[in-house]
Amino acid sequence: MNTTTRLTAAIALLVSPAALAEHYYLHAQNLFDGVADKLRSQVTVEVKDNQIVAIHDGYLNSDSAAIIDLRQHTLMPGLMDMHTHVDMVLTGSSYAEPFFKNPPYFALRASNYVEDTLMAGFTTVRNLGGTVSLDLRNAINDGHILGPRIYAAGNAIASTGGHADPTNGFSKQVSLLQGPPGPTEGVINSYEQARQAVRQRYKDGSDVIKLTVTGGVLSLAKSGDNPQFMADELKGVMDTAKDYGFVVAVHAHGAEGMKRAVRAGVDSVEHGTYMDDETIELMKQNGTFYVPTISAGKWVAEHVDQYPVIVRPKALAVGPKIQATFTKAYQAGIKIAFGTDAGVFPHGLNGREFGYMVEAGMPAIEALRSATLHSAQLLRIDDQLGSVAPGKLADLVAVKGNPLTQIELMEQVSFVMKDGVIVKQ
Ligand SMILES: [Zn+2]
Repeated sequence: MNTTTRLTAAIALLVSPAALAEHYYLHAQNLFDGVADKLRSQVTVEVKDNQIVAIHDGYLNSDSAAIIDLRQHTLMPGLMDMHTHVDMVLTGSSYAEPFFKNPPYFALRASNYVEDTLMAGFTTVRNLGGTVSLDLRNAINDGHILGPRIYAAGNAIASTGGHADPTNGFSKQVSLLQGPPGPTEGVINSYEQARQAVRQRYKDGSDVIKLTVTGGVLSLAKSGDNPQFMADELKGVMDTAKDYGFVVAVHAHGAEGMKRAVRAGVDSVEHGTYMDDETIELMKQNGTFYVPTISAGKWVAEHVDQYPVIVRPKALAVGPKIQATFTKAYQAGIKIAFGTDAGVFPHGLNGREFGYMVEAGMPAIEALRSATLHSAQLLRIDDQLGSVAPGKLADLVAVKGNPLTQIELMEQVSFVMKDGVIVKQ
């Protein structure tokens, strides 16, 4: 973020939302509206307060509206990343941090991560893990810091020793001090405990539920893909989640764990590395979304030496496979929502995922749709976000040039409007 942007954003923060009531005419060379299969050219998108009110053909002028010149740009809905960890950047040394640092430290550090995410064009994220993210969300919504709209899971739910058990790898002495984690912390081993964990998250103010239904790469545990939830535990989560209207996301690498979760009715499978034909068929039948996170797979495989010894073989085995899984899933016609696992790599690099998706065979316009309309559908907020249409919230971003012919432009978002407020120009 340069000085001018920072200043504009700071001023925007100091002024109350009501005083920001603005009327804009955005002149765009191209418009990707999230829905149509083609770009519209030379349009004026009219924004009043925090809403898109009209899309006009040609470049309209107005005495009452401020003109925003994007006549060399492609304008599109604010981007959405369905798998982030804005409360951290995981390196080898981060494993010991919880022993030495308090939650306020993590929150303050993460205020930079959320700003980097927004400046990269991501106006909405689904954050899958970590209690700090609930307060980050609130601080952003209250206008104290700059960041995307956060749909936060709070602490993920795992079984004992599972991928998101927060005490994996702890010594006996530390475990004794802490006591075994339970449903409040996100560790469950029965139908009842699953029910309690979901209700606890409702009480904590979570927006979505995250489960780790198989082993994972970066946890201090041996397996990266074994199944870690049984049918009754999944049923406990899903029965309760349904009562509270929660969208449920599951981290999964192994096929057996994925199948159990898809049969239980979860909304999205994250990573999906060892997805087999039967899993693909089940996901199609159930309308389950796939959130690929190719970026994270590539990052862990390329940075394997920085991780603890127990993690390295998993990073090498799982990481490089995700992109090929993505190709298979896309060709099979599974619904795909955009997700990166940012936090495994530095925040703000989320846009690289677009290039990886196109490289793996997805047309650029479909990749853009996965990060707009399809992500909004996964979060069930497509009545408000994910497309450019009258009545929708004014989350808009632009890149200079045409990303359909040059997808790497998605790594250089140069204009960001969130909720009708310009935060980067
Ligand atoms: Zn993740």
